[in-house]
Amino acid sequence: MTIQWYPGHMAKARRQVVEKLKLIDVVIEIVDARIPVSSRNPMVDELTSHKPRLVLLNKADLADPSITKEWVAYFEKENWATLIIDAQRGKGIKDVPLKVMEQAKPLLDKFRSKGINPRAIRAMILGIPNVGKSTVINRLANKRITNIGDKPGVTKRQQWIKVGKEMELLDTPGILWPKFEDQDVGFRLAITGAIKEEIFDFQETMVFLLSYLKDEYPNLLKERYDLTELTEDVVDLFDAIGKRRGCLVPGGHVDYDRVAEIVFRDFRQGKLGNISLERPNK
Ligand code: GDP
Repeated sequence: MTIQWYPGHMAKARRQVVEKLKLIDVVIEIVDARIPVSSRNPMVDELTSHKPRLVLLNKADLADPSITKEWVAYFEKENWATLIIDAQRGKGIKDVPLKVMEQAKPLLDKFRSKGINPRAIRAMILGIPNVGKSTVINRLANKRITNIGDKPGVTKRQQWIKVGKEMELLDTPGILWPKFEDQDVGFRLAITGAIKEEIFDFQETMVFLLSYLKDEYPNLLKERYDLTELTEDVVDLFDAIGKRRGCLVPGGHVDYDRVAEIVFRDFRQGKLGNISLERPNK
């Protein structure tokens, strides 16, 4: 579900996250493995600086595996534990509680040194809309938790989900808004479906994607649309794909909106192949 963000919304979402953080020991931040920086609100660093953190690179099934590895190194350099997961298929999920407990070790040691019996470690999921927060919560709960509040305005009594013997997870995620002041960040969010593409010009977003694919993944583009050569000019590329796919309007012109729809859908369903739209230090 896509949320429209307004200043009032943002302030409220931030307040809710701050409130929830008071209850928890370890933050589990979910990002989209295809756009690990564009799919996070940098505010999360400021809000959670005093908590141990686990970063989940989700939707790894759609991302470029070699670049995902570069991202793991990038986040680990920040001293954050990192896991590569595919929440839809449940891959990597079983390691989440282990990593959370690892992150909680200093706290557990503190309990022990004071002679206190360690209690369950409390964690919460945090991320922008559509990164897979509900999917991860359901996986960790091992059942379908209905009515996961995905609206920043909706308050619901919070409950703890037991994950194994030692960990408890807040059943509602913390939601932060994506930050798309930088136009390229906005394009990446629109392409991956994190924000409504209507927020951005459809064809401009497509030009961004096609130019990127032409430079970084030329062979995937050629294979998918049966193109022998990729033209320098992106408009010519639109034309070539449109002709291949029969996206023509009367008069023989290419219907660019239809071409864009097809390419976006192919990208989101992974039909173009494993593609990352962002790499560290780029
Ligand atoms: P939330 O808004 O952060 O709670 O996101 P959801 O859990 O509702 O997931 C948003 C969309 O992403 C849904 O269509 C999920 O099926 C899909 N999704 C979640 N995790 C994965 C994943 O690892 N791989 C893929 N391909 N899709 C995923």
